[in-house]
Amino acid sequence: MRSLKFILSALIINSISLISLFAQNAPDQIFTNGKIITVDDYFSIQEAVAIKGQRILAVGNNNEIESLAATNTQRTNLNGKTVIPGLIDNHNHVVRATEYWPNEARLDGITSRAEALQILRVKGDSLGPDEWIMSLGGWSEAQFIDDQRDFTLAELDAVAPDRPLFIQALYHHAYGNTAWFNAMGIPLTIPNEMQLTQNGLASYSVRDAEGKITGRLDGGFPMIELALQSFPAVSADEQIEAIKSSFSHLNSIGLTTVYDPAGVGIRRESYSRLRELAEEEGLTVRIYHTLGGSMPRTPQDAQDLIQEIRESKPFQGNDLVDLIAVGEIYYAPFHWDNTRQPTNPTAEDINWAKKILMAAAEGGWSVQTHATQPETIDHLLNLVAEINELQPVRQLRWSITHADNININQLDRVRHLGMNIQLRSNMVMGGREPIFEAFGGNAYNMPPLRMVQESGVSYGLGTDGTKAAQINPFVTLWWAITGKSLSGEVIQHQVLTREEALIATTRANSLLMFQEQNIGAIKPGLLADMLVLDRDYLTVPVDEIKEIRPVATIVSGKLVYGNL
Ligand SMILES: [Zn+2]
Repeated sequence: MRSLKFILSALIINSISLISLFAQNAPDQIFTNGKIITVDDYFSIQEAVAIKGQRILAVGNNNEIESLAATNTQRTNLNGKTVIPGLIDNHNHVVRATEYWPNEARLDGITSRAEALQILRVKGDSLGPDEWIMSLGGWSEAQFIDDQRDFTLAELDAVAPDRPLFIQALYHHAYGNTAWFNAMGIPLTIPNEMQLTQNGLASYSVRDAEGKITGRLDGGFPMIELALQSFPAVSADEQIEAIKSSFSHLNSIGLTTVYDPAGVGIRRESYSRLRELAEEEGLTVRIYHTLGGSMPRTPQDAQDLIQEIRESKPFQGNDLVDLIAVGEIYYAPFHWDNTRQPTNPTAEDINWAKKILMAAAEGGWSVQTHATQPETIDHLLNLVAEINELQPVRQLRWSITHADNININQLDRVRHLGMNIQLRSNMVMGGREPIFEAFGGNAYNMPPLRMVQESGVSYGLGTDGTKAAQINPFVTLWWAITGKSLSGEVIQHQVLTREEALIATTRANSLLMFQEQNIGAIKPGLLADMLVLDRDYLTVPVDEIKEIRPVATIVSGKLVYGNL
């Protein structure tokens, strides 16, 4: 009798502990009845996914996943909706964009001039009195289907009658309204051409026959950099709010991770604020970024950068924000070209670049190098080959950033060196002027997507937002699959399949960032970054791909945008 009691109580205790063990390992959440495009190694499609903590516990059919659930597991019926991994932009200067985000009206992917003007007007209505309206790049008039002419001063004054407005097309030209010209002290009428060249920003203002401003400013990069110097300062608190609101915008268009390449003019403190926020509240977009903030162009700059590379270490952060590479600009005279003009480095320039790259190789740094023209890419590959003999770089996943005009022989060399390529979708903004003027007349089939895909070289897709290009990843996917610019012209014959394009915007990009154990697919062990979409990416009519939006964006298992 006694032993029976003992056996019974032991059984009860055991089954209780079994139940609690089961509950401990049970998922916190399950999502069932979906079309889960996992983007795993087999591109498998599943019905359901289970999440525990921040990570994916299991993926499978409805029965398999439901059998894992315990009483306190939260259940979501996806009702047939499509789920894809969180999208990754491998090249987006988004941290710099947080500096003016509260005042920015984004025109990414907008194909109507009337709608663009309406967006600017609505932005103005949301701001306090005297606050500036800005739209800092990422669009071009060439993307408008209804009217591609210059914005007129009258149009811009109507949108913003009593506050300065400054909008920048690509990195090419800009427009101001009358209030902006007044704020800058630029005379609205100048009868004498000579006066213009002596007056900084005013010298870039385009005038009509009577010497009156038209609203337009030409002069590309130098003009825009000069204009930026007079922008109203943003306080630390405002920037913290700006980081949050910009990241929630990124979540709303499907981005959960960005590889941020610093950028010309960026303020170093922007990264400190990002880290502060990550510590205090967390972030809803993962930021992997590079060591940068200046544009090294003199031997002294190179010395300073070498010292900084030696004194810092990559991968000391966490899975929300981490410094992981050097680039994209580390020695401008060596590799900072544009698609119209390769660089023409002297032996001394090459030598400084070599010293920087050697310091990076010795310190275990990954490096991304901005290079667009074949001539520049050759300079780079020659140098990397030389360095690789002294200090192997294969494990460091060095990459060529943009590679807009890379050729087949160079792809072969890239593969042999174990390098990667980060491609961008900036051509989607238009197939003609001014984008050709800004990025080169040979903009068709740029970059050579199909050739890169078939070369077997590891590559991923990104944008080069927020100033040089639009940032919506579904617009990038649509461009890569259809070859069309936003205005509808076919500019790319080297297109990808839907599967290839999605891999290039998820799993492939995680490799560039050394994050393949964390992100890029929906599979057990990875962080639960997923998008529940408003339509099926794989079957929706191809022209609707750019209209796809997440109904819910999930980062580390947490809903950060939309609802379920
Ligand atoms: Zn670049």
